[in-house]
Amino acid sequence: MIGYNKLSYVDLHTGKVELKDVDEELAYGFIGGRGWAAYILFKELDNIIDGLHPSNVLVVATGPLTAVPFQSGGKTTFAAISPQTGIYGDSNVGGFFGYRMRRAGIDALVIKGASPQPVYLLVANGKVEICDAEKLWGLNSQETDAKLVREYGNCSVASIGIAGERLVKFACINVDWSRKGMRHGQAGRTGMGAVMGSKKLKAIVVMGDKDVKIADEERLKEAAIKLQRMVEGSAGYEAWRRYGTLATLEWSNKVECLPTYNFQKTVFEYAENIGGDAMQKVKVFTRACSNCIIPCEHVVRFKLEEEGEIGVEYETAAMLGSNIGLRSFEEVAKANYLCDYYGLDTISTGSVLAFIMECYQRGLVTEKELGLAPKWGDIEAVCKMINMIAKREGFGDLMAEGVKALAERIGKGSEAFAMHVKGLEISAYDHRAATAMALSYATCDIGAHHNRSWAIIYDLEVGRDKYTEDKVKKVIYLQHIRPLFDMLGVCRIYWEEFGIDPNIYAEAYSAVTGKEFTLDDLLFRSERVWNLTRAIAIIRKGISIKDDLLPERDFSDPVVGRYTSGAKLDRDKFIEMLKIYYTLRGWDELGRPTPEKLMKLGLEEAARKLYGGD
Ligand code: SF4
Repeated sequence: MIGYNKLSYVDLHTGKVELKDVDEELAYGFIGGRGWAAYILFKELDNIIDGLHPSNVLVVATGPLTAVPFQSGGKTTFAAISPQTGIYGDSNVGGFFGYRMRRAGIDALVIKGASPQPVYLLVANGKVEICDAEKLWGLNSQETDAKLVREYGNCSVASIGIAGERLVKFACINVDWSRKGMRHGQAGRTGMGAVMGSKKLKAIVVMGDKDVKIADEERLKEAAIKLQRMVEGSAGYEAWRRYGTLATLEWSNKVECLPTYNFQKTVFEYAENIGGDAMQKVKVFTRACSNCIIPCEHVVRFKLEEEGEIGVEYETAAMLGSNIGLRSFEEVAKANYLCDYYGLDTISTGSVLAFIMECYQRGLVTEKELGLAPKWGDIEAVCKMINMIAKREGFGDLMAEGVKALAERIGKGSEAFAMHVKGLEISAYDHRAATAMALSYATCDIGAHHNRSWAIIYDLEVGRDKYTEDKVKKVIYLQHIRPLFDMLGVCRIYWEEFGIDPNIYAEAYSAVTGKEFTLDDLLFRSERVWNLTRAIAIIRKGISIKDDLLPERDFSDPVVGRYTSGAKLDRDKFIEMLKIYYTLRGWDELGRPTPEKLMKLGLEEAARKLYGGD
């Protein structure tokens, strides 16, 4: 099938590896990336016991625009039932991993079972091999990456650190750590590193030099030239190349949505020390993903006892900066480095640390229990706690379970400021004065994650405290278009930030496959995937309106800011907004896709599973 390669099914328990052709239903019905992950996981659902059980299935999927001559096509989705939430989880990473996997002739890996001893996968030119990783177990990702690169040369490596090996629920997967010229990235969210750890899968090495067959090379070239002109001609181009995502920090502080001291405040008095301008002073170079003309990873050097280099993104600077009170860029860079070193998601780690700090501030936990005094802004305590989490030492064993489990254990009212939805820690935008952003977090299919619907800009445009149907429509649109980038295997930054007309992606997909698709056709498929992940959440955890809510802090603890002071969410109006969301989606009052809706989307099997019948 033109535009697609093969799927590889790997059973780590039996050692069996199979190559399968991509069929039309999967290719054109679910496109790739997260679409494929949802489809495959739904098919396997009955056999999966839980996130860390060998029966869980890890899907590693590129998209049809990965590794073709089109900008930013270097994205890969890692997906499984999340050990953090118990529902569908995924995380997306850039760099060169996806590019090399597609050039190895493999579009997706479907990894089942668990190996009795540590292994890594070698994916090279159409073959997948299970190799012994005894000598790699116990190493961090940087060492693992360096060793495997020494052995295989021109390859990419996705690996886990100690946190993944020890099944920390928010362990991440590091990609391409040890190379200077290649973007080092993480599949950070929903604990995919722990899934690899539970399978004793230390790393995946990919290498290949096959060209991906394209139906109409000339048409794709024209689309790529058009896209390049749009990016280079846009007002934001230079700023993105200079600051990357970090320019957002000063902006968040200005508009008062910067999580500070575990969302107790939305303005940080030291924001200028940890934002884009502070980063410029310690920046040493920039890096890009494959086929990208916007090198947005800015690598900084820090020297605090030891020296290191790391690329810091906005979410990390906020969650491991203002949210835990760190006051200098070097301190943030060091905390970021430690998380990457061990393989921990920086958003969830920042939230866990902030939660413990607030519990300590309120006298709900003691120095004796914790083995240290977790004071706001204390870098020494921060580093110690990251160590404890990664190694599951002392109180770190409980912290490694995430904010939800911590609050359940500590109790004493701490649940009110445990900042998570469905078990996934909320990312770095306060939403008490941003109702569309609040709805985005509440309804996100993997738990509270900003990336599915970054609606806060719309809140600012139309009125932050309004609970309108227009906002609901905007959230739904964003929840379809933003995940579409993950299905195609391209970077989502190539869109609104540069004023790019998204029809270009339908044009590119049509050129690659030789079949005609409009943007609406693609959005329909993205809506299908959104409903499928919702069906998975209902089947696995009985998710309903009771789970689409936000922490109590959002409704009862007003923002302490300069302009937004006193803002909090109105519970009744928010629930009303949620009900409008369900209606517009074609879901019932509990938040279940109706049988009619599922049939309309071509999800007959999901309808059968949810409602029975033939
Ligand atoms: S814009 Fe940044 S994240 Fe996107 S492809 Fe380029 S380097 Fe990667």
